[in-house]
Amino acid sequence: MAIAITNPFDDDRMHEECGVFGVYGHPDAAALTTLGLHALQHRGQEAAGIVSFDGEQFHGHRALGLVGDNFSSKEIIAQMPGSAAVGHTRYSTQGHTILRNVQPLFSEFSFGGLAVAHNGNLTNAITLRKSLVQRGCLFQSTMDTEVIVHLIAISPFTTVVERLIDAINQLIGAYSLVTLTGKKLIGVRDPLGVRPLVLGRLDDAYILASETCALDIIGASFERDVEPGEIVVIDVDGIHSYKPFHPVPRRFCIFEYIYFARPDSVMEDKNVYEVRKKIGAELARENPVDADMIVPVPDSGVPAALGYSNESGIPFELGIIRNHYVGRTFIEPTDQIRHLGVKLKHNANMANIKGKRVVLVDDSIVRGTTSLKIVEMVRAAGASEVHMRVSSPPITNSCFYGIDTPEQGELLASRLDVAGIAKMIGVDSLAFISIDGLYRAVGETQRDGKQPQYCDACFTSEYPIKLSDKEEGEAPTQLSLLA
Ligand code: SF4
Repeated sequence: MAIAITNPFDDDRMHEECGVFGVYGHPDAAALTTLGLHALQHRGQEAAGIVSFDGEQFHGHRALGLVGDNFSSKEIIAQMPGSAAVGHTRYSTQGHTILRNVQPLFSEFSFGGLAVAHNGNLTNAITLRKSLVQRGCLFQSTMDTEVIVHLIAISPFTTVVERLIDAINQLIGAYSLVTLTGKKLIGVRDPLGVRPLVLGRLDDAYILASETCALDIIGASFERDVEPGEIVVIDVDGIHSYKPFHPVPRRFCIFEYIYFARPDSVMEDKNVYEVRKKIGAELARENPVDADMIVPVPDSGVPAALGYSNESGIPFELGIIRNHYVGRTFIEPTDQIRHLGVKLKHNANMANIKGKRVVLVDDSIVRGTTSLKIVEMVRAAGASEVHMRVSSPPITNSCFYGIDTPEQGELLASRLDVAGIAKMIGVDSLAFISIDGLYRAVGETQRDGKQPQYCDACFTSEYPIKLSDKEEGEAPTQLSLLA
């Protein structure tokens, strides 16, 4: 019997767990939101949803699957009239992708309807949920986002903004929220600004989005990042900014620069593509190797490989070709051909690499299964030497701030040192960028050990936000309350 399995290349990656988008003041709000979600598809491919407001009523459509598979028909867009909309694209760990977990979450309150789209992860969600359940709250989904909805519902304050502030003051975690009420579009970024959120303009309309690439796709101008700890409220009177939190030093996720964000996005005033090239150049300075060609593991390794090639003077070659038409899952007819599955997505360019000393450049090693297959593939194609250079430091810890990572024990670098990893994946040499090299690439002199400038916990184990549920002995969930 044919069974569907997860593509092993996707299974051995860190996954961003959501993209958010909102429009206020444009007659084609739902259509613009669809385009915005297309641009944010890399942040989540398992489900998408849009809620719009037409001045009297809310409308919505949520579905499992890609944006293009669910929001391409005129009829669907026509079902969501209005000049304001909020959208969400979601990645979730397997088994948790069920329709009731697809955002935006919509609820009716005493003040009217409210839709919430959330990127990130609350680290005290289980504790909050237990206390809310004890108070009689009935949960409909298994998402941590629903905790926010209930906190708003039971808040003693009157206005939406006051109730939202009251709710988020009880949250611990990393979050960028875009919420839509009958009168306002509201963006929120957590006090440390771990997850991104930007503000844009399209004529008289305001846009909120996870990344600037979602502004580009609709022709909107980039105004600014929503600041860490800022609440941006957009309504008929324009834009209002609130900063209700005690200010703390920002800790943006440094992995956004390495892998998660689209390379054409600008994050915290830095173009992601340029940062990735700088990481590659640092990697070449720190870890030179005598070789004939630099080969990126496509697509995410390309900018760092270009940077490595420019710095080292070793030619850049597309020695591995990626098939762009393979989805996240494919059908394997029998177990015996399972190992052929990896070639569905990547294949070595044999004529190009035969007899050559190859340096593979990849953005990360998670479980190591992908690297092993890639190295085997390149050796089978006749490379005389295979070296690997990695544009992130070794990933030794799980992320609890909105990125889906395996349990710590499954992370190869948590169990093996560099020599052990090199042996396991079968390379002639292996090197990772150092943490200071990474900080230099993002424009710092070095990592400030007393007050690191970014969140880098998956490399350093220094978690900047309390892992509250974990410390309370709750199951250390990274995404869903199901666990
Ligand atoms: S732990 Fe790693 S992936 Fe998670 S927010 Fe921090 S830097 Fe980003």
